[in-house]
Amino acid sequence: MPVASPPHNRAARSHTVIRVLLTNHVLSGALIGALARRPAAAFAAGAASHFALDAVPHWGDWASTRHFLRVAVPDGLISLAVMGAIAALAPAERRPAVVAGMTGAALPDIEKPTTLWFGWSPFPAAVDRFHVRIQREAAGRAPLELLAAGGLAVAALTALRRPAAYGRGSACGG
Ligand SMILES: [Zn+2]
Repeated sequence: MPVASPPHNRAARSHTVIRVLLTNHVLSGALIGALARRPAAAFAAGAASHFALDAVPHWGDWASTRHFLRVAVPDGLISLAVMGAIAALAPAERRPAVVAGMTGAALPDIEKPTTLWFGWSPFPAAVDRFHVRIQREAAGRAPLELLAAGGLAVAALTALRRPAAYGRGSACGG
């Protein structure tokens, strides 16, 4: 029987596919938090950015769980370090929005470690199905992902260093 075999067996990959690097979600959340006015808005926009980022082409589609973990574990540790560093760098008055943006952007991926370790996802099945369905990933996109990390880091740090573009300065008080 002439059956074309796919490059990998998609069904066998289960849900241990990494999506966008968590580090990139955290960095985009930091950028959003740096631009947002309020923590609640930063959190919501951060969570929305997670799904938007997952839907653009990114790195992933691992051949094996071992390969996945070789990237996912350092990525998880780096994103925690990045969150800590950016929270420390953020001016005190903007820190709550920045932390909320990063948390919102990272949170949708919390089901990855819980599924891996406990076989359990905190989200409704429909959310997890949606999360898997929107992925656009392919092997060999590491340079793109690292480029995105660099760009997002520069943008987030620039936004943090810039004085807030809004606020009490100019127009009010009259
Ligand atoms: Zn995701």
